[in-house]
Amino acid sequence: MKAAVLNNNKFEIQDIPRPLLDEYENGAIIKVIGCGLCGSDIVKIRTGKAKDGAVLGHEVVGEIVEIKSNTNFAVGDKVVLGHHVPCFNCIYCWGGNYSMCRHFKSTNIVPGGFAEYIYVSEEHLQNTVFNVNLNLSDIEASFLEPLGCCVRAVKRTGLKDGTNNLIIGLGSIGILMGQAVKALGNKAFGCDLIYERVCLSENFGFEKSFLIQEEGLVLNEMKNYAPFGFDNVFLTAGSSRALDFAVNAVRDGGKILVFSSTKDNLAGFKNNDIYYRELTVMGSYSPSPMDLEDSMELLESGKVHVEGISEVYSLERLNDAVNDTLSNKIMKAFIKI
Ligand SMILES: [Zn+2]
Ligand SMILES: [Zn+2]
Repeated sequence: MKAAVLNNNKFEIQDIPRPLLDEYENGAIIKVIGCGLCGSDIVKIRTGKAKDGAVLGHEVVGEIVEIKSNTNFAVGDKVVLGHHVPCFNCIYCWGGNYSMCRHFKSTNIVPGGFAEYIYVSEEHLQNTVFNVNLNLSDIEASFLEPLGCCVRAVKRTGLKDGTNNLIIGLGSIGILMGQAVKALGNKAFGCDLIYERVCLSENFGFEKSFLIQEEGLVLNEMKNYAPFGFDNVFLTAGSSRALDFAVNAVRDGGKILVFSSTKDNLAGFKNNDIYYRELTVMGSYSPSPMDLEDSMELLESGKVHVEGISEVYSLERLNDAVNDTLSNKIMKAFIKI
């Protein structure tokens, strides 16, 4: 089968063996229709975390073509999925940190979504695979996992109704985060350095988005909307420069939710800001099966919508999709297999 295989920080189209259900006790083979390109795939390539020979991609929408399972899924079902499954019975799972569960981290789809076929295990089928409702397009359905990540982040802050939230970074994740915040009855504000993204966010229910040119001026303008600062600030920008901005934008006693890695990983939050202002800084990583379920509900009910976010690329153009994402030419790529 055709797959995009990582070689020297680039994808190469290769012919590799197709996963065979006969080699497993149970599970399913899915013919991949398409797969979203995630920011984390790009980070893995750039940091060398993914080794040569790897097939990346996890935001899969596809069709079951072979199955041996105790679940109700059947050949012909169109499905979306999460790629990791927690054990529900370890110190991390008991504490609700499902994405820290060692079993979660060790489970995956085989070989990866940028391929014609993948294998998913029985425990995937039982926990993280969902039928795609007819009212959702393939691209919409492929947002299950990234939206699930955002749902998790929003839940982590323990949002109560009517809070003011600032999303720093209005890429695809920022847009999803704002909508997840809003779907739970709260106000979402946004900011970004890119003018087009600031404008676009207002189509997705943000109360107001701010173009960051001069940080001090923007912080002042924000006071018109959140006089004490924002209850929660979500960092999706992946830039160290945004850390100080987040501290200045959050209200005393508020929360900063870290939702991206930074390239240099040097800058940090200042101890005395956290202490004197009673700030909470917290991280949120990957979604649990329950977060995926909530995400599916938000997509199906139309509370979160994604038109105009994705550009479609062929598998052969996966490297272009990576470059166009990095240069901010596009917000999100959907790779049609
Ligand atoms: Zn992802
Ligand atoms: Zn566990």
